[in-house]
Amino acid sequence: MVGRSALLKVIILGDSGVGKTSLMNQYVNKRFSNQYKATIGADFLTKSVDVEDQQVTIQLWDTAGQERFQSLGVAFYRGADCCVLVFDVNSSKSFQALESWRDEFLIQASPNDPEEFPFVVLGNKVDVDESKRQVSQKRAMTWCQAKGNLPYFETSAKEAINVEQAFQSVAVKALQQGHEDSLFADTPYGVDLEPHEMQAPGCNC
Ligand code: GDP
Ligand code: MG
Repeated sequence: MVGRSALLKVIILGDSGVGKTSLMNQYVNKRFSNQYKATIGADFLTKSVDVEDQQVTIQLWDTAGQERFQSLGVAFYRGADCCVLVFDVNSSKSFQALESWRDEFLIQASPNDPEEFPFVVLGNKVDVDESKRQVSQKRAMTWCQAKGNLPYFETSAKEAINVEQAFQSVAVKALQQGHEDSLFADTPYGVDLEPHEMQAPGCNC
């Protein structure tokens, strides 16, 4: 498998307005805009990252505003290697919705081992004045622990707080999961499904 880079599918879920598109845009393009519309006009953004000495391409799937109608469709969920659950720390309602977003994901994506599927939880908009905060770190962490010790990060897409760290954790989790599922498991050793990649520099085949 030397010279082959993994393609990992990551999907971002959470109520409309919590900052999903902004987080992706901050992570991939290092930009933030207050005028963000519901969609970025694309189904996904990609970014190449190094994880444990391996180069991986992360495909981040955004909801393009459809989360309001819960009509994301099975194709959106299928084959996901990690699911990022986002809420706004200034909205208790968006935090309470995490449970149904998680359930919805597990029903639609139907991963092999639902109990072990990697989720990462982000409490976004921590730059907003403390007096507006509705969900404490403790409350969020308690939920994450109850759901199987899910990693939790407090982020700000606006101020670029913890965004890099959160998505690095996502990449690590996705890569671990990618090794478990069909991406690698069904490929006999030495058989490359993408022959053009055999010519990549550094390939020692
Ligand atoms: P989405 O519907 O979950 O994709 O949310 P958006 O990314 O469209 O963001 C919704 C609104 O929240 C926009 O006005 C953003 O500018 C704003 N927003 C997103 N992230 C942050 C953040 O970290 N801090 C603050 N203060 N505002 C944010
Ligand atoms: Mg959006």
